[in-house]
Amino acid sequence: MRTLKKSNQHFQKAVKKLPLGVSSNFRYWGDDKTIYVKRGKGGRIWDIDDNEYIDYRLGYGPAILGYADDRVDQAAREAMEVGGVFALGTEMEYEVASRIRRMVPAAELVRFSNSGTEAVMAALRIARAFSGKDGHIILEGGYHGVFNEVLWYTEVEDWNPKDGAPEVHPYGDGVPQILKPLFHTVPLNDANVLEDVLKKYHQDIGAFLIEAIMGNCCSLTATSDYLQDARALCDKYDVVMIVDEVKTGFRVAKGGVQELLGVKADLCTFAKAMGNGYPISVVAGREDIMRTVGDGVVHGGTYTAHAVSLAAANKTLEILEETDALKTIERYGSDLRDGLSKILNAKGIEHSFVGHPSMLGVFFSAEPPEDYRAWANTDYAFYDTMAPELHKLGILVEPDSREPWFMCEAHDVESLRETLDKFERAVDITLRKLSADKMTTKTA
Ligand code: PLP
Repeated sequence: MRTLKKSNQHFQKAVKKLPLGVSSNFRYWGDDKTIYVKRGKGGRIWDIDDNEYIDYRLGYGPAILGYADDRVDQAAREAMEVGGVFALGTEMEYEVASRIRRMVPAAELVRFSNSGTEAVMAALRIARAFSGKDGHIILEGGYHGVFNEVLWYTEVEDWNPKDGAPEVHPYGDGVPQILKPLFHTVPLNDANVLEDVLKKYHQDIGAFLIEAIMGNCCSLTATSDYLQDARALCDKYDVVMIVDEVKTGFRVAKGGVQELLGVKADLCTFAKAMGNGYPISVVAGREDIMRTVGDGVVHGGTYTAHAVSLAAANKTLEILEETDALKTIERYGSDLRDGLSKILNAKGIEHSFVGHPSMLGVFFSAEPPEDYRAWANTDYAFYDTMAPELHKLGILVEPDSREPWFMCEAHDVESLRETLDKFERAVDITLRKLSADKMTTKTA
């Protein structure tokens, strides 16, 4: 039986010094459910109660090769001798930028930052400067980081299609309402709605920001047709197309989602997988657009292109470009998907998968939802009941069903066998719990 005794005790201490006892709201899972980690290695992590987990969250994606990868960490250790940051450039920046350009044709010029948020923030600023227009469009259900211009969500839960487009609200307090007019949302895979919005507001819209596989919305995936239409509409209305590859980049293909789905962005952003967990990100894109940086647009930061993160990225990208790591990860994801499917079929449980095998969206419905509107109206009782049972058994998936399951190179035959075995047990427990709940509701 898993116990979280030490984590619970630590939470009581931590919450006295840190809001919610953690350093990101998303890490708080409840006063008695918040987990504190001791260490990670490969595809596994250990918490401070010494519970072991096979991890399919991977820090929301960064640990593409696995935690504490010896090859990457060795490069990072060597880079510690360099001295950190100097408020001056180093030669390594050119080396990593050149590799990114080789892997991603759209990345003609590159600027480094530390987080996905910073990269997307820069991309939007560059797009505004280039287009001369301040507004932007994002997809309903999209997530692009913790800065004000993107911290908005589309309210679809109580939405009635007869009332027109769903309302947009700030994600939380402190996001200035004054930004609202800059912001438009459209559903995934409906080029007609995108065109309608552009026809109406194109004089004010400088950027279309899209995650082509929605890494924060169950890996719902844009169709190639939609991407081609969106590309053409952006060209027609002088809108900069920003493909946010913070989750998909260097994961779903060497050239990211742009290679996988055949689209070329004007600007694109990368983070997560590029550094195997070291803090580094990139805004990249078309030379004429990127040249606005330094010619009007400000970009920088004390810690950009830190020697350690840069060396980690150089090694991670070398491995991803020059070995079959991504094939291994994809194969593992496909095997996992097939194994889960076999178990669920044998029990007659409807299910479907979406996205790429390296970042798998898991649904308990015969067909996956087409977009966020459909997701909000899908029944998630099965997933929501099963996730905590998986945790108790030592399989770490996100409690929020919108987060896909992430694979890494270090997941192996043993972790696959163990995951499937424990998944079957969690499914049985879930079925028992849900049928007990039904009985209680009937008798009540
Ligand atoms: N963009 C996307 C698509 C993301 O998934 C995320 C984070 O999950 C971000 C941007 C923000 O990245 P960060 O958390 O590194 O600031």
